[in-house]
Amino acid sequence: GPAAASAGHDALLPVVGADLDVPLVGGGRIRHVNLDYAASAPSLVAVADQVARLLPYSASVHRGAGFGSQVCTAVYETARDEVGRFLSVRTDDTVVFTRNTTDAVNLLAHCVAHAVGRAARVVVLDLEHHANLLPWSAVRREVVESRTTPEETLDALVTALRAEPTALLAVTGASNVTGERLPLARLAAVAHDAGARLFVDAAQLAPHARIDLAGLGIDYLAFSGHKLYAPFGAGALVGRRDWLDAAPPYLAGGGAVREVTPDSVTWADAPARHEAGTPNLPGVAALATACRTLAQLPAETLAAHDLALRHRLADGLGALPGVRVLACWPAAGTDGTRAPVGVVTFTLSGHHPDAVAVYLAAEHGISLRAGRFCAHPLLRRLGAPGGALRASVGVGSTTADVDQLIEALDEYLAGGP
Ligand code: PLP
Repeated sequence: GPAAASAGHDALLPVVGADLDVPLVGGGRIRHVNLDYAASAPSLVAVADQVARLLPYSASVHRGAGFGSQVCTAVYETARDEVGRFLSVRTDDTVVFTRNTTDAVNLLAHCVAHAVGRAARVVVLDLEHHANLLPWSAVRREVVESRTTPEETLDALVTALRAEPTALLAVTGASNVTGERLPLARLAAVAHDAGARLFVDAAQLAPHARIDLAGLGIDYLAFSGHKLYAPFGAGALVGRRDWLDAAPPYLAGGGAVREVTPDSVTWADAPARHEAGTPNLPGVAALATACRTLAQLPAETLAAHDLALRHRLADGLGALPGVRVLACWPAAGTDGTRAPVGVVTFTLSGHHPDAVAVYLAAEHGISLRAGRFCAHPLLRRLGAPGGALRASVGVGSTTADVDQLIEALDEYLAGGP
Protein backbone atom coordinates (compact mmCIF):
# COMPACT_ATOMS: atom_id res chain seq x y z
CA GLY A 1 0.00 0.00 0.00
CA PRO A 2 1.00 3.68 0.10
CA ALA A 3 2.87 3.27 3.39
CA ALA A 4 5.14 0.63 1.89
CA ALA A 5 5.72 2.76 -1.21
CA SER A 6 6.77 5.84 0.73
CA ALA A 7 8.98 3.76 3.03
CA GLY A 8 10.71 2.35 -0.03
CA HIS A 9 11.26 3.46 -3.58
CA ASP A 10 8.90 5.27 -5.89
CA ALA A 11 9.32 5.25 -9.66
CA LEU A 12 12.45 7.12 -10.75
CA LEU A 13 10.89 8.32 -13.99
CA PRO A 14 7.27 8.36 -15.16
CA VAL A 15 6.33 5.62 -17.64
CA VAL A 16 3.17 5.22 -19.70
CA GLY A 17 0.77 2.51 -18.56
CA ALA A 18 1.70 2.88 -14.91
CA ASP A 19 -1.98 3.21 -13.98
CA LEU A 20 -3.30 0.52 -16.31
CA ASP A 21 -6.22 -1.53 -14.95
CA VAL A 22 -6.37 -5.19 -15.88
CA PRO A 23 -9.25 -7.69 -15.44
CA LEU A 24 -9.15 -10.34 -12.71
CA VAL A 25 -10.45 -13.84 -13.35
CA GLY A 26 -12.96 -13.59 -10.51
CA GLY A 27 -14.35 -10.30 -11.86
CA GLY A 28 -13.36 -6.74 -11.21
CA ARG A 29 -10.19 -4.98 -12.19
CA ILE A 30 -6.91 -4.22 -10.48
CA ARG A 31 -3.92 -1.97 -11.09
CA HIS A 32 -1.47 -3.79 -13.34
CA VAL A 33 1.79 -4.73 -11.63
CA ASN A 34 4.45 -4.93 -14.31
CA LEU A 35 7.41 -7.05 -13.24
CA ASP A 36 8.40 -7.97 -16.77
CA TYR A 37 10.69 -5.10 -17.70
CA ALA A 38 13.41 -7.48 -18.93
CA ALA A 39 11.15 -8.67 -21.76
CA SER A 40 9.96 -5.21 -22.86
CA ALA A 41 9.91 -2.14 -20.65
CA PRO A 42 7.12 0.45 -20.72
CA SER A 43 7.93 3.67 -22.58
CA LEU A 44 8.95 6.73 -20.64
CA VAL A 45 6.36 9.51 -20.70
CA ALA A 46 9.09 11.73 -22.22
CA VAL A 47 9.49 9.19 -25.02
CA ALA A 48 5.76 8.98 -25.75
CA ASP A 49 5.57 12.79 -25.86
CA GLN A 50 8.46 13.00 -28.29
CA VAL A 51 6.94 10.41 -30.62
CA ALA A 52 3.62 12.28 -30.58
CA ARG A 53 5.42 15.54 -31.49
CA LEU A 54 7.18 13.83 -34.37
CA LEU A 55 4.32 11.91 -35.99
CA PRO A 56 2.93 14.91 -37.92
CA TYR A 57 6.18 14.92 -39.89
CA SER A 58 5.72 11.82 -42.02
CA ALA A 59 8.48 12.48 -44.47
CA SER A 60 11.42 10.53 -45.75
CA VAL A 61 14.80 10.75 -44.05
CA HIS A 62 17.70 11.78 -46.35
CA ARG A 63 15.43 11.87 -49.39
CA GLY A 64 13.63 15.15 -49.70
CA ALA A 65 13.96 18.91 -49.77
CA GLY A 66 10.59 19.57 -48.15
CA PHE A 67 10.31 20.90 -44.63
CA GLY A 68 9.08 17.58 -43.21
CA SER A 69 12.00 15.76 -44.74
CA GLN A 70 14.43 18.30 -43.33
CA VAL A 71 12.93 17.85 -39.86
CA CYS A 72 12.99 14.06 -40.11
CA THR A 73 16.57 13.97 -41.36
CA ALA A 74 17.72 16.28 -38.57
CA VAL A 75 15.89 14.23 -35.94
CA TYR A 76 17.35 11.00 -37.31
CA GLU A 77 20.96 12.20 -37.37
CA THR A 78 20.65 13.93 -33.99
CA ALA A 79 19.36 10.63 -32.62
CA ARG A 80 22.50 8.92 -33.89
CA ASP A 81 24.65 11.45 -32.03
CA GLU A 82 22.60 11.07 -28.86
CA VAL A 83 22.91 7.29 -28.86
CA GLY A 84 26.66 7.66 -29.35
CA ARG A 85 26.91 10.13 -26.47
CA PHE A 86 24.81 7.88 -24.21
CA LEU A 87 27.35 5.10 -24.71
CA SER A 88 30.45 7.35 -24.66
CA VAL A 89 31.65 6.21 -28.08
CA ARG A 90 35.07 6.98 -29.56
CA THR A 91 35.24 9.54 -32.38
CA ASP A 92 35.82 6.87 -35.02
CA ASP A 93 32.95 4.62 -33.88
CA THR A 94 29.72 4.46 -35.78
CA VAL A 95 26.10 3.93 -34.72
CA VAL A 96 24.04 1.75 -37.07
CA PHE A 97 20.31 1.68 -36.37
CA THR A 98 18.83 -1.81 -36.46
CA ARG A 99 15.48 -3.36 -35.55
CA ASN A 100 16.69 -4.72 -32.20
CA THR A 101 19.60 -6.52 -30.55
CA THR A 102 19.00 -9.71 -32.51
CA ASP A 103 19.24 -7.79 -35.76
CA ALA A 104 22.41 -6.03 -34.55
CA VAL A 105 24.17 -9.30 -33.62
CA ASN A 106 23.26 -10.82 -36.99
CA LEU A 107 24.62 -7.70 -38.70
CA LEU A 108 27.88 -7.93 -36.78
CA ALA A 109 28.22 -11.65 -37.53
CA HIS A 110 27.74 -10.86 -41.22
CA CYS A 111 30.44 -8.18 -40.99
CA VAL A 112 32.89 -10.45 -39.14
CA ALA A 113 32.37 -13.12 -41.81
CA HIS A 114 33.39 -10.60 -44.48
CA ALA A 115 36.02 -8.56 -42.64
CA VAL A 116 37.85 -11.50 -41.05
CA GLY A 117 36.49 -14.44 -43.03
CA ARG A 118 33.98 -17.23 -42.54
CA ALA A 119 36.59 -19.16 -40.53
CA ALA A 120 36.84 -16.31 -37.99
CA ARG A 121 36.66 -17.69 -34.47
CA VAL A 122 34.14 -16.15 -32.10
CA VAL A 123 34.22 -17.17 -28.44
CA VAL A 124 31.01 -16.99 -26.40
CA LEU A 125 29.90 -18.20 -22.96
CA ASP A 126 27.16 -20.76 -22.38
CA LEU A 127 25.14 -18.23 -20.37
CA GLU A 128 24.17 -16.15 -23.38
CA HIS A 129 20.73 -15.31 -24.70
CA HIS A 130 20.10 -17.17 -27.98
CA ALA A 131 20.51 -13.80 -29.76
CA ASN A 132 24.20 -13.90 -28.82
CA LEU A 133 24.65 -17.62 -29.53
CA LEU A 134 22.88 -18.48 -32.77
CA PRO A 135 23.99 -15.68 -35.16
CA TRP A 136 27.64 -16.67 -34.70
CA SER A 137 27.07 -19.80 -36.74
CA ALA A 138 27.78 -17.46 -39.69
CA VAL A 139 31.41 -17.77 -38.57
CA ARG A 140 33.17 -20.31 -36.30
CA ARG A 141 31.56 -20.21 -32.90
CA GLU A 142 33.14 -21.71 -29.83
CA VAL A 143 31.07 -21.96 -26.65
CA VAL A 144 33.02 -21.84 -23.38
CA GLU A 145 31.33 -23.34 -20.35
CA SER A 146 30.93 -20.86 -17.51
CA ARG A 147 32.36 -22.02 -14.17
CA THR A 148 31.17 -21.78 -10.59
CA THR A 149 32.90 -18.45 -9.89
CA PRO A 150 33.42 -15.34 -12.02
CA GLU A 151 37.21 -15.70 -11.57
CA GLU A 152 37.26 -19.27 -12.89
CA THR A 153 34.98 -18.24 -15.74
CA LEU A 154 37.40 -15.48 -16.68
CA ASP A 155 40.27 -17.99 -16.54
CA ALA A 156 38.37 -20.35 -18.82
CA LEU A 157 37.87 -17.52 -21.30
CA VAL A 158 41.55 -16.58 -21.18
CA THR A 159 42.49 -20.21 -21.87
CA ALA A 160 40.08 -20.35 -24.81
CA LEU A 161 41.34 -17.03 -26.21
CA ARG A 162 44.95 -18.17 -26.03
CA ALA A 163 44.26 -21.58 -27.58
CA GLU A 164 43.74 -20.28 -31.12
CA PRO A 165 43.61 -16.96 -32.97
CA THR A 166 40.26 -15.39 -32.12
CA ALA A 167 38.49 -12.54 -33.88
CA LEU A 168 35.90 -11.72 -31.28
CA LEU A 169 34.84 -12.41 -27.72
CA ALA A 170 31.07 -11.96 -27.53
CA VAL A 171 29.48 -11.71 -24.08
CA THR A 172 26.41 -10.35 -22.42
CA GLY A 173 26.71 -7.26 -20.24
CA ALA A 174 24.10 -8.60 -17.84
CA SER A 175 22.34 -11.96 -17.93
CA ASN A 176 18.68 -11.81 -18.91
CA VAL A 177 18.14 -14.75 -16.53
CA THR A 178 20.14 -14.05 -13.38
CA GLY A 179 20.87 -10.34 -13.79
CA GLU A 180 24.53 -11.09 -13.07
CA ARG A 181 27.10 -8.88 -14.75
CA LEU A 182 30.36 -9.72 -16.43
CA PRO A 183 33.56 -7.75 -15.73
CA LEU A 184 33.61 -5.91 -19.04
CA ALA A 185 36.81 -3.89 -18.60
CA ARG A 186 38.74 -7.05 -17.69
CA LEU A 187 37.18 -8.98 -20.55
CA ALA A 188 38.18 -6.19 -22.95
CA ALA A 189 41.74 -6.41 -21.64
CA VAL A 190 41.99 -10.20 -22.02
CA ALA A 191 40.37 -10.09 -25.46
CA HIS A 192 42.74 -7.35 -26.65
CA ASP A 193 45.76 -9.19 -25.18
CA ALA A 194 44.79 -12.15 -27.33
CA GLY A 195 44.35 -9.97 -30.42
CA ALA A 196 40.56 -10.28 -30.31
CA ARG A 197 37.85 -7.64 -30.10
CA LEU A 198 35.05 -7.51 -27.53
CA PHE A 199 31.36 -7.42 -28.38
CA VAL A 200 28.86 -6.78 -25.58
CA ASP A 201 25.20 -7.71 -25.81
CA ALA A 202 23.86 -4.83 -23.73
CA ALA A 203 20.15 -5.60 -24.18
CA GLN A 204 19.82 -6.08 -20.41
CA LEU A 205 22.68 -3.95 -19.13
CA ALA A 206 21.83 -0.69 -20.91
CA PRO A 207 18.52 -0.12 -19.09
CA HIS A 208 20.15 -0.60 -15.69
CA ALA A 209 23.60 0.97 -15.79
CA ARG A 210 25.64 3.66 -17.48
CA ILE A 211 27.94 2.13 -20.11
CA ASP A 212 31.20 3.85 -21.07
CA LEU A 213 32.19 2.12 -24.29
CA ALA A 214 35.50 3.98 -24.69
CA GLY A 215 36.43 3.75 -21.01
CA LEU A 216 35.67 0.03 -20.76
CA GLY A 217 37.38 -0.79 -24.05
CA ILE A 218 34.30 -2.36 -25.64
CA ASP A 219 34.70 -2.62 -29.41
CA TYR A 220 31.07 -3.36 -30.31
CA LEU A 221 27.82 -3.13 -28.46
CA ALA A 222 24.18 -3.89 -29.27
CA PHE A 223 20.95 -2.96 -27.51
CA SER A 224 17.20 -2.70 -28.05
CA GLY A 225 14.91 0.30 -27.62
CA HIS A 226 12.00 -1.76 -26.33
CA LYS A 227 14.00 -2.79 -23.25
CA LEU A 228 15.24 0.78 -22.76
CA TYR A 229 11.84 2.46 -22.21
CA ALA A 230 11.07 3.08 -25.88
CA PRO A 231 8.59 1.26 -28.15
CA PHE A 232 9.41 -1.75 -30.31
CA GLY A 233 11.29 -1.87 -33.57
CA ALA A 234 14.50 0.11 -33.08
CA GLY A 235 17.88 -0.89 -31.72
CA ALA A 236 21.50 -0.22 -32.55
CA LEU A 237 24.86 -1.74 -33.31
CA VAL A 238 27.58 0.60 -32.12
CA GLY A 239 31.33 0.38 -32.48
CA ARG A 240 34.37 0.23 -34.70
CA ARG A 241 33.78 1.28 -38.26
CA ASP A 242 36.37 -0.83 -40.12
CA TRP A 243 34.63 -4.22 -39.96
CA LEU A 244 31.32 -2.59 -40.85
CA ASP A 245 32.85 -1.00 -43.93
CA ALA A 246 34.56 -4.24 -44.97
CA ALA A 247 31.27 -6.09 -45.51
CA PRO A 248 28.71 -5.57 -48.24
CA PRO A 249 25.38 -4.17 -47.06
CA TYR A 250 23.46 -6.44 -44.77
CA LEU A 251 20.36 -5.48 -46.76
CA ALA A 252 20.85 -4.21 -50.30
CA GLY A 253 18.73 -1.29 -51.47
CA GLY A 254 18.16 2.42 -51.56
CA GLY A 255 20.09 4.57 -49.14
CA ALA A 256 22.99 2.12 -48.86
CA VAL A 257 24.65 3.28 -52.06
CA ARG A 258 26.89 6.02 -53.36
CA GLU A 259 26.45 5.30 -57.09
CA VAL A 260 24.51 2.76 -59.13
CA THR A 261 24.75 2.00 -62.84
CA PRO A 262 22.78 -0.73 -64.64
CA ASP A 263 25.57 -3.18 -63.94
CA SER A 264 27.58 -1.85 -61.01
CA VAL A 265 27.17 -0.40 -57.56
CA THR A 266 29.41 1.55 -55.21
CA TRP A 267 28.19 1.14 -51.65
CA ALA A 268 28.12 3.96 -49.12
CA ASP A 269 30.20 3.67 -45.96
CA ALA A 270 28.68 2.74 -42.61
CA PRO A 271 26.26 3.63 -41.13
CA ALA A 272 24.25 4.26 -44.35
CA ARG A 273 25.75 1.09 -45.87
CA HIS A 274 23.78 -1.07 -43.43
CA GLU A 275 20.63 1.04 -43.25
CA ALA A 276 19.01 0.44 -46.64
CA GLY A 277 15.36 1.34 -46.99
CA THR A 278 13.25 3.95 -45.23
CA PRO A 279 14.26 3.96 -41.58
CA ASN A 280 12.07 3.65 -38.49
CA LEU A 281 12.16 7.32 -37.58
CA PRO A 282 9.73 7.28 -34.63
CA GLY A 283 11.51 4.25 -33.21
CA VAL A 284 14.93 5.81 -33.54
CA ALA A 285 13.76 9.16 -32.11
CA ALA A 286 12.13 7.27 -29.23
CA LEU A 287 15.31 5.32 -28.57
CA ALA A 288 17.39 8.51 -28.55
CA THR A 289 14.92 10.30 -26.29
CA ALA A 290 15.11 7.38 -23.85
CA CYS A 291 18.91 7.61 -23.91
CA ARG A 292 18.84 11.37 -23.31
CA THR A 293 16.29 11.09 -20.48
CA LEU A 294 18.15 8.26 -18.75
CA ALA A 295 21.45 10.14 -19.08
CA GLN A 296 19.93 13.00 -17.07
CA LEU A 297 19.60 10.69 -14.05
CA PRO A 298 22.74 10.56 -11.92
CA ALA A 299 24.35 7.15 -12.43
CA GLU A 300 24.29 6.51 -8.65
CA THR A 301 20.55 7.25 -8.47
CA LEU A 302 19.84 4.74 -11.22
CA ALA A 303 22.10 2.11 -9.63
CA ALA A 304 20.70 2.63 -6.12
CA HIS A 305 17.08 2.27 -7.27
CA ASP A 306 17.88 -0.84 -9.28
CA LEU A 307 19.89 -2.49 -6.53
CA ALA A 308 17.38 -1.71 -3.78
CA LEU A 309 14.53 -3.28 -5.77
CA ARG A 310 16.68 -6.23 -6.78
CA HIS A 311 17.62 -6.93 -3.16
CA ARG A 312 14.02 -6.58 -2.05
CA LEU A 313 12.95 -9.04 -4.76
CA ALA A 314 15.72 -11.56 -4.13
CA ASP A 315 15.41 -11.39 -0.33
CA GLY A 316 11.60 -11.53 -0.36
CA LEU A 317 11.54 -14.45 -2.80
CA GLY A 318 14.38 -16.26 -1.04
CA ALA A 319 12.46 -16.17 2.25
CA LEU A 320 9.47 -18.04 0.77
CA PRO A 321 9.38 -21.83 1.29
CA GLY A 322 10.50 -23.86 -1.72
CA VAL A 323 11.80 -20.87 -3.67
CA ARG A 324 15.23 -21.09 -5.25
CA VAL A 325 16.73 -17.93 -6.75
CA LEU A 326 18.94 -18.88 -9.71
CA ALA A 327 22.51 -17.61 -9.97
CA CYS A 328 25.59 -18.61 -11.94
CA TRP A 329 27.79 -17.43 -9.08
CA PRO A 330 25.71 -17.69 -5.89
CA ALA A 331 28.69 -17.02 -3.66
CA ALA A 332 29.84 -13.88 -5.49
CA GLY A 333 29.25 -10.59 -3.68
CA THR A 334 26.37 -8.39 -4.72
CA ASP A 335 27.89 -5.04 -3.78
CA GLY A 336 30.25 -2.81 -5.72
CA THR A 337 30.01 -1.76 -9.32
CA ARG A 338 29.20 -5.20 -10.60
CA ALA A 339 26.09 -5.84 -8.54
CA PRO A 340 23.52 -7.85 -10.51
CA VAL A 341 20.81 -5.83 -12.27
CA GLY A 342 17.12 -5.92 -11.40
CA VAL A 343 16.36 -9.28 -12.99
CA VAL A 344 15.61 -12.19 -10.64
CA THR A 345 14.76 -15.70 -11.82
CA PHE A 346 13.46 -18.37 -9.46
CA THR A 347 11.83 -21.76 -9.24
CA LEU A 348 9.11 -22.84 -6.84
CA SER A 349 9.56 -26.43 -5.77
CA GLY A 350 6.62 -28.60 -6.83
CA HIS A 351 4.98 -25.87 -8.92
CA HIS A 352 5.08 -25.45 -12.67
CA PRO A 353 6.25 -21.94 -13.60
CA ASP A 354 3.44 -21.50 -16.16
CA ALA A 355 0.78 -22.30 -13.56
CA VAL A 356 2.25 -19.79 -11.11
CA ALA A 357 2.47 -17.09 -13.78
CA VAL A 358 -1.16 -17.67 -14.80
CA TYR A 359 -2.26 -17.47 -11.16
CA LEU A 360 -0.36 -14.22 -10.58
CA ALA A 361 -1.89 -12.63 -13.70
CA ALA A 362 -5.43 -13.90 -13.18
CA GLU A 363 -5.75 -13.36 -9.43
CA HIS A 364 -3.42 -10.43 -8.80
CA GLY A 365 -2.86 -8.57 -12.09
CA ILE A 366 0.87 -9.25 -11.83
CA SER A 367 2.87 -9.76 -15.04
CA LEU A 368 6.11 -11.66 -14.99
CA ARG A 369 7.74 -14.12 -17.32
CA ALA A 370 7.64 -17.91 -17.16
CA GLY A 371 9.72 -20.12 -19.40
CA ARG A 372 13.27 -20.57 -20.51
CA PHE A 373 14.03 -16.96 -21.48
CA CYS A 374 15.70 -17.76 -24.83
CA ALA A 375 18.63 -19.15 -22.85
CA HIS A 376 18.16 -22.92 -22.93
CA PRO A 377 21.82 -23.81 -22.25
CA LEU A 378 21.88 -21.55 -19.19
CA LEU A 379 18.62 -22.90 -17.76
CA ARG A 380 20.07 -26.39 -18.07
CA ARG A 381 23.31 -25.30 -16.37
CA LEU A 382 21.31 -23.72 -13.53
CA GLY A 383 19.39 -26.95 -12.95
CA ALA A 384 16.07 -25.62 -14.23
CA PRO A 385 15.81 -27.25 -17.67
CA GLY A 386 12.00 -27.13 -17.58
CA GLY A 387 11.88 -23.40 -17.01
CA ALA A 388 11.49 -20.89 -14.22
CA LEU A 389 9.83 -17.59 -13.31
CA ARG A 390 11.46 -14.21 -13.84
CA ALA A 391 10.61 -10.94 -12.13
CA SER A 392 12.33 -7.82 -13.44
CA VAL A 393 12.18 -4.14 -12.60
CA GLY A 394 13.22 -0.80 -14.02
CA VAL A 395 12.92 2.95 -13.59
CA GLY A 396 9.12 2.82 -13.39
CA SER A 397 9.11 0.12 -10.70
CA THR A 398 8.33 0.68 -7.04
CA THR A 399 8.79 -1.09 -3.75
CA ALA A 400 5.01 -1.66 -3.72
CA ASP A 401 5.25 -3.63 -7.01
CA VAL A 402 7.81 -5.96 -5.49
CA ASP A 403 5.88 -6.34 -2.25
CA GLN A 404 2.70 -7.24 -4.13
CA LEU A 405 4.50 -10.10 -5.86
CA ILE A 406 5.92 -11.45 -2.62
CA GLU A 407 2.51 -11.23 -0.90
CA ALA A 408 0.75 -12.91 -3.83
CA LEU A 409 3.27 -15.75 -3.90
CA ASP A 410 2.95 -16.14 -0.16
CA GLU A 411 -0.81 -16.49 -0.61
CA TYR A 412 -0.33 -18.95 -3.49
CA LEU A 413 1.96 -21.12 -1.40
CA ALA A 414 -0.52 -21.02 1.48
CA GLY A 415 -3.13 -22.57 -0.85
CA GLY A 416 -4.73 -19.59 -2.56
CA PRO A 417 -7.03 -16.81 -1.39
N1 PLP B 1 20.16 -10.35 -25.45
C1 PLP B 1 19.63 -10.34 -24.23
C2 PLP B 1 20.52 -10.46 -23.04
C3 PLP B 1 18.24 -10.24 -24.09
O1 PLP B 1 17.70 -10.25 -22.88
C4 PLP B 1 17.44 -10.12 -25.23
C5 PLP B 1 15.98 -10.03 -25.06
O2 PLP B 1 15.16 -10.64 -25.64
C6 PLP B 1 18.05 -10.12 -26.48
C7 PLP B 1 19.41 -10.22 -26.55
C8 PLP B 1 17.29 -9.99 -27.75
O3 PLP B 1 16.70 -8.75 -27.83
P1 PLP B 1 15.69 -8.44 -29.00
O4 PLP B 1 14.58 -9.44 -28.87
O5 PLP B 1 15.22 -7.04 -28.72
O6 PLP B 1 16.40 -8.58 -30.27
